Amino acid sequence: MNTSNHFFKTAQICQNGHLRNSDTSTHAAKNEKFCSICGAEVISACPHCGSQLRGAYYMNKPIYFGTMCNVSEERKFSSHISGYKDVKLSNTVDVPSYCHNCGAPYPWTEAVLKTAENIINMFDELTPEQKKQLVDFIPDIIIETPRSRYAALVYAKFLDGLQGLVYENFASWCRENVLPALLVLMNMQK
Ligand SMILES: [Zn+2]
Ligand SMILES: [Zn+2]
Repeated sequence: MNTSNHFFKTAQICQNGHLRNSDTSTHAAKNEKFCSICGAEVISACPHCGSQLRGAYYMNKPIYFGTMCNVSEERKFSSHISGYKDVKLSNTVDVPSYCHNCGAPYPWTEAVLKTAENIINMFDELTPEQKKQLVDFIPDIIIETPRSRYAALVYAKFLDGLQGLVYENFASWCRENVLPALLVLMNMQK
């Protein structure tokens, strides 16, 4: 099968990660300049490389025009392509975390990473080296990577026994953003 027949429509997503339109060309009336949920600016391309935000997944399917005819024992189908039809292949559009083209975190991912970094830097109980190690591991606790489990254990070790306002804020950030299986390892599930 020719995979070049598969393509994504362009999506609109706000800076905070709300999907506003999964198909900006077909459903142009749904387009927004600012998010109607949170008021943030809406984008349809990666701010780093300009490639489209991937929305609905489609396939360009040929439409055959033809007739069935019996020729001896063999049934033959004579046909020709009379046109193409866009067929939607998936009804779910996941808001992507990182750009498929340049690998940069999208603005909503950057905001999540930055918030965690700011909170980690407020832990007076941690050394600068420990803070740096935790900050470096943030991407590994929000997305499954080969380092995720190790990262979760480092968090559990450094944060063990801590309490107070900074810890409470970090724990609530974790419950919103960290993979559930890792929350257990980090000893942070509710
Ligand atoms: Zn929004
Ligand atoms: Zn990009």
